[in-house]
Formats: sequence, C-alpha cells, structure tokens
Amino acid sequence: MKKVPELLVPAGNIKTLRYAVEYGADAVYIGGKKFNLRSLADNFTVAELEEAVNYCHERNVKTYITLNSILFENEINGLKKYLSQISHIEFDGFIISDMAVMNLIKTYFKNPKIHISTQANITNSIGANVYNKLGAKRVNIAREVKFNDLKEIIKNTDAEVEVFIHGALCISYSGRCMLSKYMTGRDANKGRCAHSCRWKYYLLEEERPNLFFNIVQNENGTFIYNSRDLCLMPKLDMLAGAGVSAFKIEGRAKTESYIAQTVWAYRKALDYIENNEFSDEKKSFLMSELNKCTHRDYTVGFMFLDGYDDLENNEAVSYKKDYRFVGLYNDQSKKYGLPLILVKNQFKKGEIIEILEPKKMPYEVRINEIVISKNDCDYMADTANPNDIVMIKDIGEINPYAILRIKQ
Ligand code: SF4
Repeated sequence: MKKVPELLVPAGNIKTLRYAVEYGADAVYIGGKKFNLRSLADNFTVAELEEAVNYCHERNVKTYITLNSILFENEINGLKKYLSQISHIEFDGFIISDMAVMNLIKTYFKNPKIHISTQANITNSIGANVYNKLGAKRVNIAREVKFNDLKEIIKNTDAEVEVFIHGALCISYSGRCMLSKYMTGRDANKGRCAHSCRWKYYLLEEERPNLFFNIVQNENGTFIYNSRDLCLMPKLDMLAGAGVSAFKIEGRAKTESYIAQTVWAYRKALDYIENNEFSDEKKSFLMSELNKCTHRDYTVGFMFLDGYDDLENNEAVSYKKDYRFVGLYNDQSKKYGLPLILVKNQFKKGEIIEILEPKKMPYEVRINEIVISKNDCDYMADTANPNDIVMIKDIGEINPYAILRIKQ
C-alpha cells in the first residue's frame, strides 16, 4: 500500500469537529476565541479546546490549534495570558505566521510542533528552510506556487510540506490583502475579511452621485475578481506522488454537511490512492460527489493553470446548489426504534433522499411516510419543515453522523 498524505480538515466548532473526525480526517485544525484568522467562525472556548483534543485523541486524530494572526505590540500580554490559559492542553501542533507567536508558544509548551500558516506566504525552499531552522516542523506552501516549483521545494527542504487542496481562494497573495480593511475597516489579516473582492461594483461619476454605471456590461454586474473555489481532486495522485505531507481543506466557517461531504470524498480518494485504484473513473465519481456540496465553480488553481483566466468566474457569482441539505440524524426514537431527523431544509413525501454516512457509499431512499415528532405527540405529514424533528419510516437504521440530501 502507498503512503498517503495526512488529511487535514477545518472545524469551526465542536459539532463540525465531530463530523470531520467521523468522516475520516487524520487531523483537524481549530481556533480559540482569540489570535486566529477566522474570528467570524464560532471558534472554541478553552473548555471546548480541551474537549476537542480529548475527542480527537481518543480516536487517534491529531488536533492543531491556529494562532496565525499577526501580533501587534499591544497584544503581547493578551497572547501570554491566553497561552497560559491553554498551556495544559496537549495540542499536536500550532499553526502560526508570526515569529513572535512561535517564540511565545515555546515558552508555554514543551517541544511544540510548529506549522507555518499560509498567511506567511512561503513560495520557495529557502523560505521553507529558514522557518525550519527556526524550529518549524511543517510549512504550508502558498497556493500561488506552480506544481513544478512545489516538487523542487519538497526536494530541497527538510520541513514537512502541506498544501491546500480544497476551498475558497483569494485574489491576493495569501496574507497580503488590504481590500477588506480599506473598504470596511474589517481586517482580513485579523480574520475579519468582508470578502470585498467578490462584491458587485459600479462606476460612479462625481457629479452624478446616484448614477451607477456598469464597468462591463453583463447581467451580473461587474466584479473585481470573483474567484472560483479550489479543487485539486483531479491532481491528488500527482501531489501525493510528489511527496506532499499533508492535504489541507479550507473552511473553518463551513457547516457540518459541507465538512462531511468534502471529507468523505477526499478520504475515499486517499483510500483509492493508497491501493493504486485512483482511476479517471474514480476521479469523476468523486468530483460528482464534491459537486453535491454548496460550492462556487471549481478550479485547479494557480498551481496547475497556465494562465489565470480560469481562476475567476464573474458570470456565475453565486454558489451552486445542485443538492439541498435536508437533515441530520438527531436521536433515536425509543418508542419506534427509528432515527429522529433534524430537518434543515424542507422536503416532501414522494421525494428521493440520498443518505451519506461515514465509510459507506451514498444510497437513495424514497420518502413514503413522514412522521413529525413534537412534544411527545407524533403525527403524519406530507411536508417536513426546517427545525422539525421527523421520522422517515423507510430509511431504517442510519449512522449518527448521517447527512440527508436531495437533488434539486
Ligand atoms: S477581500 Fe478577497 S482577496 Fe482579500 S482576503 Fe478577503 S477573500 Fe481574500
């Protein structure tokens, strides 16, 4: 069997972390309430960080904490206090971009494994080696690096190399965008990006303040740069063959259904690669699985594109939703011995539901009977609505981490 890279998955809260683990993550990265670059995700309290690490360790999964914010002088004492509050937790790695943060971590944790964040924008082996000599065990290579250069970097550094394989892309070099800060005061480099690069823009002439001109005539308006989402599924075997140590998925603000579906697909891909079975047919099957998540158009990104035209799509600015996520396992009905489903989006009797579970191929079931369970009173209905707790008689036993979706 081939050795495959670690599958590194984001989790914005304890619930998505459990889905990430159950669906096959080798490691998860999470952030506390401070000093990480997803300040708009739920994030973890100190007690939740501890709970997360214990949950992962019991299942042989690594947990990395993200502390990749740039540190200002007036934040040093705050970081020291925060590190002392979390110093008892046995994290398997620390994702950082600021050398000051690395130094402080070393004073609060014994032999910490330091990973350099994408925020540091490492694009060559010399940079990787500088960080390695300073104590970093792993470096995340900038998404802007070409595949041939990536291979050279791997050859020429002792650091473990990690690459992003899936998720949102930025217009700018990672860690260097000022657009959101400039336009809204929300600093992307402090984890508060307002995604200003994706807004709809008009041209305004100073004498006509209420007259908005489209810069390019297009029914969707004009966008500075609306990046597609990165998806390196078709190139995964090349990346694994090149010696990448870890495959990272972006998205600490994503839902449990997104995490479940992407991790399921990439876990499956790694299993195929491990067994020399990652054929074109398997790739297109797994791409069709990734298409079931809510996503923008996909691109293979800077690493594999010749030009940059295919990086953006200003015609299709909204998310694609070929499937709707309709529910999650919630509990087991003691009375009927059937799974109780928490409804997330409406569905009706007669529709075909697709069920995704960890370590199993997705399968379809027709909804013949919906029973709504409310305040100990159960009644039949033709429609299930968001937040209803329902039983679907025909689905039988399902995994507690099952995801239910319906083709639109
Ligand atoms: S504004 Fe756009 S390019 Fe800049 S950090 Fe945010 S998402 Fe990235």
